[in-house]
Amino acid sequence: MENLRDHSQKPAYGMASNCAFMIRRAWRDCKGVLSVCAGLVFCGVTASLLELLVVPAILEAVERGAAPGALAVMTGGFTLGMAAVRALRDYLEQNAIFGRVHVRQGLCQDLHLTFCRTSFPHIEDPDYLKRMKKASHCLDSNRDPGEAVWKTMTDLATNVISFVIYLLLLSRVGPWAAGLCAALSAVSYFAGERIRSWRYRHREEEGELRHKRDYVINRSRDLKLAKDIRIFGLVPWLNELYGKYARLLRDFCAQYHRRYLWAGLLDVALAFLRNGAAYGLLIAMALRGELTPAQFVLYFTAVSGFTQWVTGIFAQLTELHRQSLELSALREMADVEEPFRFEDGRPLPVKENHLYQLELRDVSFRYPGAEEDTLSHVNLTIRPGEKLAVVGKNGAGKTTLIKLLCGLYDPTEGQVLLDGEDIRQFNRRDYYRHFSAVFQQFSVLAGTVAENVVQTAGDGADLPRMWDCLERAGVADKIRELPQRENTHLGREVYLDGIDLSGGQMQRLMLARALYKNGPVVVLDEPTAALDPIAERDLYQRYSDLTGRCTSVYISHRLASTRFCDRIILVEGGGIAEEGTHEELLNAGGRYAYLFHIQSKYYQEGEIEDE
Ligand code: ADP
Repeated sequence: MENLRDHSQKPAYGMASNCAFMIRRAWRDCKGVLSVCAGLVFCGVTASLLELLVVPAILEAVERGAAPGALAVMTGGFTLGMAAVRALRDYLEQNAIFGRVHVRQGLCQDLHLTFCRTSFPHIEDPDYLKRMKKASHCLDSNRDPGEAVWKTMTDLATNVISFVIYLLLLSRVGPWAAGLCAALSAVSYFAGERIRSWRYRHREEEGELRHKRDYVINRSRDLKLAKDIRIFGLVPWLNELYGKYARLLRDFCAQYHRRYLWAGLLDVALAFLRNGAAYGLLIAMALRGELTPAQFVLYFTAVSGFTQWVTGIFAQLTELHRQSLELSALREMADVEEPFRFEDGRPLPVKENHLYQLELRDVSFRYPGAEEDTLSHVNLTIRPGEKLAVVGKNGAGKTTLIKLLCGLYDPTEGQVLLDGEDIRQFNRRDYYRHFSAVFQQFSVLAGTVAENVVQTAGDGADLPRMWDCLERAGVADKIRELPQRENTHLGREVYLDGIDLSGGQMQRLMLARALYKNGPVVVLDEPTAALDPIAERDLYQRYSDLTGRCTSVYISHRLASTRFCDRIILVEGGGIAEEGTHEELLNAGGRYAYLFHIQSKYYQEGEIEDE
């Protein structure tokens, strides 16, 4: 298991391990990928051998004084053979993509599931998000390592097999011939590679520049910013930012193109030296009569071919190394240590008709990287069946408190207890099943109304129960009016026929969803930004009536909304500043009473008081 914070730059998986991993995946998901690779290697090696042998073989037959008929058969055989091998190679190459895409999609799906299932704190951790982004780059397109690695492995295998065959052939001329070619090819390759790898060594810098430029582009197209762009006249600012990052990126690209040019020139010069020396030696041997014309042609062709295999092997190995780094980043995501226990935790089935008690015992919490605790030494027991209100100004820590209660975060110090037991020991997914929550941001997916209420696609929906929940939430009439009733799509992001509900209708739909889930602990975390105070109070009251004696927590910064609760706590200064019923708190004449009066005055007079 790997600790996220201790993550070092060294990849956890080496090249051989990553190749084996991909082969295992293909064996499991689509064996065709492996047979296509094997076929391509066969075609590659056979085609190069046929090309190498055709001229020397015909020349040798001519030297032997073969009959024209035999020569014609031989030439026809070679031509047919080459055509067949090329046709097979083209066929395999055309079809290779399907299986490879299938394997890549499987990896994408796994990564996607990892992200959806990981402990919640990871989702807000920039380090985790950065690594997730890096891992998913590996699967973005056909050209990325999750798919391109098949071509690299195929080419490498073709090069290695051909290299061995050519090596055996050239060693018949003399060991020096093979050695010389290999050595000069290696020099040429490494010198060029040092220059070419500049871009790879500066990939973080390039990634940063691209990220900044893309950020400006994405924000410019972001619907949420569209109004501000127009009203506040943000275009010149955005344009200036775009120009700046595009210029920096252009300068960066110009730098590596200049280096590539030098690499190309160096390659040409060394190839001239290498082939010149080898050809010179072969010519000298031919002049001394040590080689027949056919042998001369064979070795002459083999020299350039041999160089090509050696260079190919080095190039493929470098490519494989790069791809392997990215594949390692992908695989490492599955190893990131989870702060929460899931399937390895104690099972926690929901008990029917049971009233749960929740407790925060001496809980402190600090967000990663923050300088101060958001909550400090909080003690709070929510008694079975109690309706608790959590109130306080924006930023006081109400949502943080709810995240701790719901098990989305674990406290930095102290414990969260369910019926007296620390929730850390339980399977966290089981724990989540206990909560019917409505949060500030609605999580509506582009799907039908029904799917959004029952939270599943396709079968498995209990329609009578769904309608009952829609009815109780007060949104059933609206849904009946829709063109396709509960099968109408929500939102227009994916479905052109989708509809948009108003803020209030959406609230009620989310309420119906929470009712459908029927979790024994109810949480309402200010899902009412779009509502006026009276509508918010009505919604809270309705929710309270509908959920009966469930253990419930209601959060609001509007104190009038939660006055019906059994107990109200005022969160301030990282802790619980006051607690009691609405009347008790008003009579106490403290902070709650002060804030309540200010808010009442504001709502009555419609003016903003700056306290
Ligand atoms: P409330 O719900 O009362 O408005 P929150 O619990 O959302 O308050 O936030 C309490 C404090 O914690 C705020 O100062 C906020 O800036 C900070 N905070 C909230 N979420 C995060 C986060 N993911 N990372 C860092 N700080 C956060």
